[in-house]
Amino acid sequence: MSKNKKTLTNNFGAPVDDDQNSLTAGNPGPVLMQDVHLLEKLSHFDRERIPERVVHAKGAGAHGYFAVTADVTKYTRAKFLSAVGKRTEVFLRFSTVGGERGSADAERDPRGFAMKFYTEEGNYDLVGNNTPVFFIRDPLKFADFIHTQKKNPATNLKDPDMFWDFLSLTPESIHQVTILFSDRGTPRTYRHMNGFSSHTYKWYNDKGEYFWVKYHFKTEQGIQNLTRQEAEVMKGKDPDHATRDLHESILRGEYPSWRLEMQIMTPEQAANYRFDPFDITKVWPHADFPPIVIGRLVLNKNPENYFAEVEQSAFSPANFVPGIAASPDKMLQGRLFSYHDTHRHRLGPNFHLLPVNAPKASQVDNYQRDGFMRSDGNFGGSPNYYPNSFGGPEPRLEIAEPSFEVSGKAARQKYVHPNDDFVQAGALYKKVMTDADRDHLVGNIVDHLGGARKRIQYRQCALFYKAEQEYGRRVAQGLNLDLKEVARLAGMSAEDRAKETAAGTYEK
Ligand code: NDP
Repeated sequence: MSKNKKTLTNNFGAPVDDDQNSLTAGNPGPVLMQDVHLLEKLSHFDRERIPERVVHAKGAGAHGYFAVTADVTKYTRAKFLSAVGKRTEVFLRFSTVGGERGSADAERDPRGFAMKFYTEEGNYDLVGNNTPVFFIRDPLKFADFIHTQKKNPATNLKDPDMFWDFLSLTPESIHQVTILFSDRGTPRTYRHMNGFSSHTYKWYNDKGEYFWVKYHFKTEQGIQNLTRQEAEVMKGKDPDHATRDLHESILRGEYPSWRLEMQIMTPEQAANYRFDPFDITKVWPHADFPPIVIGRLVLNKNPENYFAEVEQSAFSPANFVPGIAASPDKMLQGRLFSYHDTHRHRLGPNFHLLPVNAPKASQVDNYQRDGFMRSDGNFGGSPNYYPNSFGGPEPRLEIAEPSFEVSGKAARQKYVHPNDDFVQAGALYKKVMTDADRDHLVGNIVDHLGGARKRIQYRQCALFYKAEQEYGRRVAQGLNLDLKEVARLAGMSAEDRAKETAAGTYEK
């Protein structure tokens, strides 16, 4: 063997003599049980796949940095935001939501926009989407919602009846449905879309004052989308087109970047605001809370290994750092539990030790020990209980989130502002979209909703009509529905509409 060649070894570091011919009794065989190299190679291969994420299974990621461009110290004590010019290393994973790990990047779907900031006070994760709002506002509905976006349990096929049955019975989804069926539901690449926290979060400063905030990462590449027809072609031509685009643009040195704009609301403003500031189906209109530019995100390094860095990356909206905390947004509260829970299932209880998930700029020191795949020194012989008198780590009271008031009855309570579900979807359709946007929106909906049965089409059209009459009329016309019937259904309560369009209605 020449000197500069590397030696092939087994997983335990011992050299391997032959990697092409199994050990056999005679020629051709049978193969001997004592070919332990063959057994190890096959058994490791048999275990190569880990459970795919139940949502956001298909994704692509890249490393980069976040740089602060404005002074926000009066709002937050977060150290990574503490000085203009300060840079923090980040990892970002983009994804689609409903498809499996091998599904096409060009599917109509929200896009995940999950970021990990490796700050000096621990990892801060912001796990958002390319849309500022979401379909539902209560986490109790999440599993049902996702089932409808995936495949029919009997046929394993996507099912427009399931998809639209749920949405049409869930009026708060109308704003997100309108964004999803605009061409922003099929972004041209991951670089040509915005990223949003979607949720409201809390920032607090070192005086104990707090503020409600929303994050908007605005693409510096400009918004570009695929039309429905272009997306259909792309799905067949290159199912990985957005993954490829991200990798190749970074390879070419064209580093994608986003401007971070914040909307900031005081607690006093929140108490009197015309919308519920914690309702994730709503935005804060820009005229009410003008976004301020505070930073810049740049992606400049491809992963060296997809599985190690992208597949094993594990984000959670529960990963906060001092100066940033949760809001009472119910969807956020559900997600605070669910993300780490799914990672424990997918990657095991010590997923935080994997290099992409481990802090890079701060130290971990606590009393948690053991568990499957504990791959570090497990804190050696240091105390594994608290309090102790052997110099173990101590909590730091001064970084605590300021206390806040809560009041009211503990009960399963209906949302109190149901009538404003349609206002912002209507504003998007009427005031923001261009004529071409509206044409595409209506065409995209008709193409998809046309696959559902008539009673579901009627029920959903009533929601479009409630958002904006012209919107409902145009979809109804595209589907050959009776306009008077759409208007009649739109005039009903959600409960009555559901009864009027129960199984069997309008169907022979
Ligand atoms: P503005 O007129 O100040 O801003 C409109 C916003 O809509 C812009 O941010 C624009 O994004 C975005 N937009 C344009 N086309 C689409 C589309 N097809 N899907 C989603 N977003 C789109 O509006 P207001 O703040 O008064 O809000 C009006 C409506 O705009 C809202 O009801 C909401 O639907 C939408 N919107 C509002 C946002 C907010 O945080 N206020 C954020 C995103 C959307 P861009 O600048 O990237 O082109």
